[in-house]
Amino acid sequence: MSQNVMQAMSLDSNSYGRTPVSHAQLPEVFRNSYASLNEPQKQAVEAIDGAVLVLAGAGTGKTRVLITRLANILLSQKARPHQVLAVTFTNKASLEMRERISHLLGLPTEGLWLGTFHSIAVRILRYHAELAGLQSSFTILDADDQLRLLKQLMKAEDIDDKKYPPRIIGGIISRWKDRALLPDQINSHEFRSDSYEVIALKIYREYQARLKILNAVDFGDLLLLNLKLFNEHPDILNRYRNQFQYIMVDEYQDTNVAQYLWLRLLAQGHGNICCVGDDDQSIYGWRGAEVGNILKFEKDFPGAVVIRLEQNYRSSAHILAAASTLISQNTDRLGKTLWTSEAKGEPVIVRGVWDGEEEARVIGEEIESFHRKGYKLSDIAILVRAGFQTREFEDRFIKTGIPYKVIGGPRFYERQEIRDALAYLRILVQPQDSLAFERIINTPRRGIGNTTLQTLHQYARIEQISMTEAAHRLMDTDEVKGKAKLSLQTFFRDLTRWRSLLSTTPHGEVARIVLDESGYTAMWQQEKTPDSAGRLENLKELVGAIDEFETLPGFLEHVSLVMENANQSGGEMVSIMTLHSAKGLEFKAVFLAGWEEALFPHPRSLDENGATGLQEERRLAYVGLTRAREIAIVTYAANRRIHNQWQTSLPSRFIQELPNEHITIIGQPGLYRGNRSHQVSNPRYESSPVIPFTKTKEKTFEIGKRVFHMKFGYGYVQGIDGDKLEIAFDHSGFKKVVASFVEPA
Ligand code: ATP
Ligand code: MG
Repeated sequence: MSQNVMQAMSLDSNSYGRTPVSHAQLPEVFRNSYASLNEPQKQAVEAIDGAVLVLAGAGTGKTRVLITRLANILLSQKARPHQVLAVTFTNKASLEMRERISHLLGLPTEGLWLGTFHSIAVRILRYHAELAGLQSSFTILDADDQLRLLKQLMKAEDIDDKKYPPRIIGGIISRWKDRALLPDQINSHEFRSDSYEVIALKIYREYQARLKILNAVDFGDLLLLNLKLFNEHPDILNRYRNQFQYIMVDEYQDTNVAQYLWLRLLAQGHGNICCVGDDDQSIYGWRGAEVGNILKFEKDFPGAVVIRLEQNYRSSAHILAAASTLISQNTDRLGKTLWTSEAKGEPVIVRGVWDGEEEARVIGEEIESFHRKGYKLSDIAILVRAGFQTREFEDRFIKTGIPYKVIGGPRFYERQEIRDALAYLRILVQPQDSLAFERIINTPRRGIGNTTLQTLHQYARIEQISMTEAAHRLMDTDEVKGKAKLSLQTFFRDLTRWRSLLSTTPHGEVARIVLDESGYTAMWQQEKTPDSAGRLENLKELVGAIDEFETLPGFLEHVSLVMENANQSGGEMVSIMTLHSAKGLEFKAVFLAGWEEALFPHPRSLDENGATGLQEERRLAYVGLTRAREIAIVTYAANRRIHNQWQTSLPSRFIQELPNEHITIIGQPGLYRGNRSHQVSNPRYESSPVIPFTKTKEKTFEIGKRVFHMKFGYGYVQGIDGDKLEIAFDHSGFKKVVASFVEPA
């Protein structure tokens, strides 16, 4: 135990009426963990008071330092749990941190303010909602709600949403919020009169006013309204300044301006703030993160102790060297050297495969082989650049029974757009599938509202038939009206046509036609939310996947099995996630899949941000490689289906940038490029039997009989057509209705 910690331990700091903990009483776990730290790490743990910046590369123990430091503050009674504010980047990271701290302390960590920026900001805002012009029950809008609201406002203002897409306007507003700018703080003179910004500023004002009326905030508001609260109410700011005696921040390189200002407001005064970060791992520039915040730290907190950690404890020497060489090609970096005392280990394996299917198969086999060698499945991760890439692995693992979980997002088949698309396919195959019917009957919007749905439900219940059948029977009556009636008729006509296509057209193609003709694809094209591009990619991936199955019912059965596997969670599992979600995590073996030019660096990032975009992509590659402790395997495919189109792909430029002496290359897929055909057989769909309609309950009606209908009131039966009645109603006129809704009067 170092001298400083000993001193800290015996400090009768503000003492809160408690007896200080003596060395012997410190939990053994803490003592051991502390003893294993290197000198600069210990320094960071002990430098409790004042400002500390730990600026260091991946795997050098930044997070570990932060956790030990926090435990040290509590154990030395410098503060009670509720006086410590610890901010992490993801919910997963904060859960992990909480567990590790409680392990070190040997106690639960109740009372600690530990969470993401958003979760802490929302907690503060709820306490003081009325001062921010809200009620404490305010709702937090998600991206979809936000966009819908923007669209309404733009429509009301007669702004052409073709010329000024709401997604772009929303993006500009969000970036302003990231930079902590309220409408009044934006200088409109800087903008050309017809620029997006001028429109965005106008809408921004109205959007904020509207949110207030709705008693709602968006994600950007959480921090922004905290700042406003602190600036306008110094007493409240002081209260939190006094409360949070110690502030700690992980992944500091990814904070945006609003988060930075928030931290600065809270920390100025006592100045007890410790931030840890790595400029080489800044991967959220596209969401407003500013690496420059790291550079400002020393200016904002003069006398700050800056600690550099250079020893990497995570990765084998080969992996570390490969990652360091890769990142050294970036120009805008602070630059640092990393070393490790670990053995050389295995070189990074770079493996070429024929296509995505082979990639999933090969990785699956490797995982099984590592598992046999004693690796736990939870020691293994597959990291991908784009969300749609997880599908191929999920399908393969279901087939071969490798348990897996998708981190940071739903599994492929659980994603909203995939569930919607599957619902369309399910009613093609199984016309009575009420759940599928309900899911998509008004998605995209077809004017079939709650009233119509209620009528359908009611009728289906009375007659004990499916919703689809209820709809089918009611659409020719006056039980449903106007737009809804027309829509149902069109929808059923379409369904019949699509079903008949199944006997003449490959089923993947039918799926594409259904999604296009139903307006479902167009719905996402128009949405233009930040994630709509990803959703469209997923839909194309789905259509491609369908082609790999003999029949559509066969595919749907496979999907139900996938879903079932999803429910058997718990136990040992391989993790699949995007590179973005992998930040801060580590695994013994990491597979880095899809390192191809068309995928990684991601073309969108290069298109939108050019050289800066490329550097951010390279940092992502660095984050990916440095997650690995013992094994890193990079794969690239010679052919890949992207957006449902086969492309011949080139290995990613990041592969060329890896140093030869630290990699082993396996496989030359280019050798047989073009020799194989991707034509999959397309056995035709054979239509499944339609369940016969259930018979209407016996109720006798005669022409001329007086009856009562729950919607149209009293009337006389004029005609009978099977289970439908033509009735002249006293007040509603002549209508065709179903007998189940009619009672003898
Ligand atoms: P990243 O930049 O990826 O977030 P990091 O700097 O936060 O990495 P940690 O996750 O804290 O690094 O540590 C990486 C690994 O090294 C962990 O397994 C941690 O337990 C281990 N480690 C850190 N410091 C030491 C040490 N002094 N002795 C042994 N192992 C250590
Ligand atoms: Mg970390």
